[in-house]
Amino acid sequence: QGGYSAPHTRRAERSLSTHDYDLFVIGGGSGGVRAARIAAGHGARVAIAEADRFGGTCVIRGCVPKKLLVYASRFSDEFHDAAGFGWQIGAPRFDWPTLIANKDREIARLEGLYAEGLEKAGVTLYRQRAQLSGTQAVRLADGHNVSAAHILIATGGVPRRDPEWAAHPRVIVSDDMFALPALPQRLIVVGGGYIAVEFACLMHGLGVQTTLVHRGPELLRGFDQELAAALREAMEARGIGVRLGVRPAAFASHDDRLSVRLDDGSMLEADYALLAIGREPATAGLGLDTAGVAVKAGGAIEVDAASRTSVPGIYAVGDVTDRVNLTPVAIREGHAFADTVFGGRPATVDHALIPTAVFSTPELGTVGLGEAQALAAHPRIEIYRARFRPLKATLGGSPERTLLKLIVDADTQRVLGAHMLGPDAGEMAQLLGIALRMRATKADFDATMAVHPTLAEEWVTLR
Ligand code: FAD
Ligand code: NDP
Repeated sequence: QGGYSAPHTRRAERSLSTHDYDLFVIGGGSGGVRAARIAAGHGARVAIAEADRFGGTCVIRGCVPKKLLVYASRFSDEFHDAAGFGWQIGAPRFDWPTLIANKDREIARLEGLYAEGLEKAGVTLYRQRAQLSGTQAVRLADGHNVSAAHILIATGGVPRRDPEWAAHPRVIVSDDMFALPALPQRLIVVGGGYIAVEFACLMHGLGVQTTLVHRGPELLRGFDQELAAALREAMEARGIGVRLGVRPAAFASHDDRLSVRLDDGSMLEADYALLAIGREPATAGLGLDTAGVAVKAGGAIEVDAASRTSVPGIYAVGDVTDRVNLTPVAIREGHAFADTVFGGRPATVDHALIPTAVFSTPELGTVGLGEAQALAAHPRIEIYRARFRPLKATLGGSPERTLLKLIVDADTQRVLGAHMLGPDAGEMAQLLGIALRMRATKADFDATMAVHPTLAEEWVTLR
């Protein structure tokens, strides 16, 4: 596994193929850009087509702009807490157009860096849509046809839209959130996954009256449900309305607002309803049928561990394969593909023990098994918890508790899962991920000296 960060010591033999390119990449997002750049570094003749903007979902309308909005939203806590530390601040005012303009400038800069990096690596850029027109052929939107010995599909995903609801202009998806003309006064968020929870928290932090509506019994299915419940309680305590076990039944558009009837008969009104009900693989108009590329139920491209599709020479990485839909995973898959096919260095990606964070406020960071998953897979587990008010809150005044939870296999003492709700939980999940990959035991945690005073020291003092 791995080998991704090793220097490129072996350059592929110059292809003697009669194709226009050794590799044609469809999609210039996280996975596609990495694969193109690494394959070119191995000596392959590479082209990449991007229908929209280089950088893809993560850079243009996902992780990066989202995190900038999260940062913006957290200043309200800082302003509030500053008083306990002696600061006197007048009533702060927030200006959405300034944030959006600054965010747009940064995203444009990153987009430029992505394109520049590809050009420097010798990759040919096509700024247009592409589709398969055969097993070794691609048709570009301008009608141009090119041939390639290998094709990589890295077209990512798009927000799922409910066809019944999509007709309402005030029913929007995450892509739209980054360009709203003004900060809404009221927002309904539909869904209980990453995007719903993150946007509900960040919009609330910016001063928007927010209600989250989720069909399930608890937020964040698949995460440790004790932490999910604790997050929901914290969101509610902050003033976010959370309605569980209900779905929108009907929307009605008015000039300046939207009303929503929920399936329990209750009504909500807002400026917009954000649908965050999952994402779908972006395969429309890709010509998968033409080339004979098999898809799974749900439309994602079927691949094996080496990202090979059902058609020899055609590969797929990232969200379009619906394995684990996170940017670092798409990047690793793209890198492993390029090393294997063009670098003479076979590599696969390990999809186990992937640390992840939900950038809610408070933040949730996690790696490994949740309590229910651990119980299902291991006969006996031990659970260690710490729930406390961080030192900063003693003067800051926040009543919010931080929660840490460690799940240990009682027989082997191996740590199976580490979960946290609180400040910097994402940063900690990254490092806990290393410990879990190294098969750390509870004794390893206990033997590690604390860094005092920190929140993180609680991980090594759990008893
Ligand atoms: P993408 O990045 O989606 O790139 C695919 C590219 O292909 C797009 O640029 C698209 O325009 C292009 N394309 C599509 N069809 C064609 C075609 N026919 N021809 C040419 N080009 C085409 N992940 C994290 O790890 N952390 C986060 O904090 C995080 N936050 C997120 C927040 C939001 C709101 C969203 C929506 C996603 C977030 N993600 C996050 C997920 C992450 O963005 C994706 O997992 C990642 O971008 C997948 O990379 P990819 O290369 O598979 O596809
Ligand atoms: P998720 O799959 O995480 O969540 C979708 C949510 O919508 C679930 O709560 C689901 O409920 C609900 N839902 C699905 N269909 C319907 C429906 N028809 N009506 C009502 N509710 C419905 O998707 P997201 O859109 O939140 O995010 C997509 C992916 O992007 C994430 O899974 C993640 O991989 C990635 N991402 C990562 C982030 C990060 O790393 N911080 C941030 C944002 C996105 P149920 O649970 O009942 O199925």
